[in-house]
Amino acid sequence: MASLRSRYSGTGSGGFARHILRGARTMVAVFATFNLALSSAHAQEILRDAETEALLAEASAPLVKAAGLDPRNVQVLLIRDDSINAFVAGGQIVWIHSGLITAADNVNQVQGVIAHELGHIEGGHVIRSSEGIKEATGISILSLVLGAAAVAAGAGEAGMGILAAGQQAAMGKYLAFSRTQESSADLAGARYLHTAGISGKGSLEFFKKLQNLEYRYRVREDTNDGYATTHPLSSDRIQVLTDLYQKDPAWAKPVDPALEARFERVKAKLTGYVSDPPVTLRKYPETDSSVPAFYARAYAYHKSAYPDQALSAVKALLTAIPNDPYFDELEGQILLENGHPADAIGPLRQAVAGTRGNPLISGMLGHALVATEDPSHLDEAEQVLRSALTRDRENPFAWYVLGNVYARKGNNALAALASAEQADLSNNPAQASRQAQAAMTALKPGTHDYLRAQDIAMAAQGAMERRKKKK
Ligand SMILES: [Zn+2]
Repeated sequence: MASLRSRYSGTGSGGFARHILRGARTMVAVFATFNLALSSAHAQEILRDAETEALLAEASAPLVKAAGLDPRNVQVLLIRDDSINAFVAGGQIVWIHSGLITAADNVNQVQGVIAHELGHIEGGHVIRSSEGIKEATGISILSLVLGAAAVAAGAGEAGMGILAAGQQAAMGKYLAFSRTQESSADLAGARYLHTAGISGKGSLEFFKKLQNLEYRYRVREDTNDGYATTHPLSSDRIQVLTDLYQKDPAWAKPVDPALEARFERVKAKLTGYVSDPPVTLRKYPETDSSVPAFYARAYAYHKSAYPDQALSAVKALLTAIPNDPYFDELEGQILLENGHPADAIGPLRQAVAGTRGNPLISGMLGHALVATEDPSHLDEAEQVLRSALTRDRENPFAWYVLGNVYARKGNNALAALASAEQADLSNNPAQASRQAQAAMTALKPGTHDYLRAQDIAMAAQGAMERRKKKK
């Protein structure tokens, strides 16, 4: 069966074999649309999806600018967790729980949350973690992201080591802000909404929704790992915000319908991806022929190992919106994960072209090309992966697949260099050093690639010495 889970998600044992394609044994189909990976039962999965990240970036960009931050430095990323929460960690990364997206009624509510979280960044609010995990280990959330990708790419224990330390720091429930910090983040968030000309209605709706949930389930602070715990809610807070927002000229401004439509799609695909299929089919029944409903069901069917039904849902989507690159991507993903890499290539090429070379989708295309085991695809795979890495070089999985391409082409020097890059990004200096040394012995001194290998080797040596000293 074609469960969307990766082998590292802990419970995804059934059907996993389908994800290991012949000839690429360690290459798990992680570049699923939602690209996830994790190690232990408590681990949190980072969900990476091109369409979702594009939407979150666009919805937050005006707020990021209003906060005086550079949109290129701020990331809004998704973590798989049913509870309704969001938090800031790892410098300028806003983490949003999948449960928050699936619970939000509209994109404006999500924007309200992001504005508040950006307020925590501007305020320099330090994560209060009882164990001071991050400070103690120096492990950043970025390394958590990379660690997850490394595990996904088959880096195994090294990646898991990063996660073991990092995942706890990333868990929203370990983080809590003081009431003073909450008020200052509220005020800052209101300022960003005002500057960006975005209504605060969603922010209030969202807080009220949380309050209702609290009343309904009598959620107590000590048992709840949701937003209300990490961002203590109070009637005062809501009153202050109501007064501020209502005075703002943007109060009555409606949400941009195009942005809202994109949000509905992302919410639907996320629901289809994270929920049990029966839950998805209740929320998006067969009688619903809207685009989001077909999208959600396509994921539910794919997850239930009904590839034909999943593909016919995608066909309906492509009939409604021809050439949509994310629908092409899903078609390619379903084919790839059901053992048809050659058939996946066409749709994935279109998806890459339609997103002007999105690095995540390019990684999936590179994977499909390699998985065909057809040597005539290796040049294209190399080109696609290299261009993806030029845009986003911090992608251990793409380095992994690229190393595979070089190895198949018999270029052991560049294969070693790609493995060194992967190990470097996966915080595995021992491996990075070994591979970089191997690359250097085979490369011509003074060339660009040689110098790069030398850089990695030196950085890895330094990292290993620092680790020794710490011990
Ligand atoms: Zn807060």
